[in-house]
Amino acid sequence: METFQEYLQAWPSARRAEGAARATEADVLAVLQKEILQPADLLTLLSPAAAPHLEAMARRARELTLRFFGKAVNIFTPLYISDVCTNQCRYCGFNAKNKQPRRHLSIDEAAAEADVIADKGFQHILLLTGDARHLSSPQYIADAARRIKPRFASVGVEVYSLTTEEYELLVNAGVDSMTMFQETYNPELYAWLHPVGPKHDYGFRLNAPQRAAEGGIRSIGVGALLGLESFEQDAFATGLHAWWLQRRYPGVDVSVSIPRICPHEGNFDVQHAVDDRHLVQYVTAMRCFLPRAGITCSSRESAFMRDHLVPIGVTRVSAGVSTAVGGRATEDLHNPGQFEITDRRSLEEMAASLAGIGYQAVLKDWEDPVAV
Ligand code: SF4
Repeated sequence: METFQEYLQAWPSARRAEGAARATEADVLAVLQKEILQPADLLTLLSPAAAPHLEAMARRARELTLRFFGKAVNIFTPLYISDVCTNQCRYCGFNAKNKQPRRHLSIDEAAAEADVIADKGFQHILLLTGDARHLSSPQYIADAARRIKPRFASVGVEVYSLTTEEYELLVNAGVDSMTMFQETYNPELYAWLHPVGPKHDYGFRLNAPQRAAEGGIRSIGVGALLGLESFEQDAFATGLHAWWLQRRYPGVDVSVSIPRICPHEGNFDVQHAVDDRHLVQYVTAMRCFLPRAGITCSSRESAFMRDHLVPIGVTRVSAGVSTAVGGRATEDLHNPGQFEITDRRSLEEMAASLAGIGYQAVLKDWEDPVAV
């Protein structure tokens, strides 16, 4: 079976760079007239030639978003259940070298935190852990999911890369969605950014969404951490990844997340900062290329930015976010969390903001057909 890692060989970085550099404004306008786009078209929309045409791209993206998603935005919230991590990702506040207090919730503690979240009305929850198999094992994640599942319509995970059998274990515990950030699709840069720990294995991470699909996960999100590699390179590879997954697994709901790197206490030097115009270009290009794919925007972005990205493509947002472990029902160690939150709106505030721009907050868009 072909893997995405193998498929990506057809699009080496030189081909991507050349395609982006060669695109003309006429090419951009022609792509915006097309109903079905191919990967080369995505490159055109991400190219410098597309930058002066953001308004036209936004019009097209808005039209497609309304056609396929209406004026509805899904809401979810994350629950960090462990920040113990063995990796040393150079850009992350949970980096194992950062000497900060760590916390690993027991299943009872995770359930208590989840109860507080459920009482607020959330129906979609995302469980997150650091990468520490010895402590946050697949069985631990499955146990946490099984325990909280009765209180939520959808339980997702954003954890380290698992095997197909381990994804099956999570599915059997009630997990229905997963998100996997490749961080960067540049293997050399990836190796430098992840010098130590299991995450160093680029290929194992790159093929994790495919294994998740094979393991029965119904909803899969991919994304790069924008700012690590040049915009066109990683934006294109992310879109290509989602496109490939959609074609390979038509029964799976594939989505794209659009995080930009933000400051943390490690003071990572961002080499390819993505400005607001590039973020808009990314969202609109992705919507044109993948009309049916969800686009997720986290609370890394400001309320202003998120409210403006919704009409042009974003279909999922988080609310009531804390990136610390604990603090809702159990002790909070007051550590700084994995990254800085910019949009601190609660569920009610988020729903009100969306209503203010004519959109409805959707708390539940999935009901498990099998009682766990
Ligand atoms: S990005 Fe994830 S794997 Fe890397 S140090 Fe942070 S928590 Fe650990």
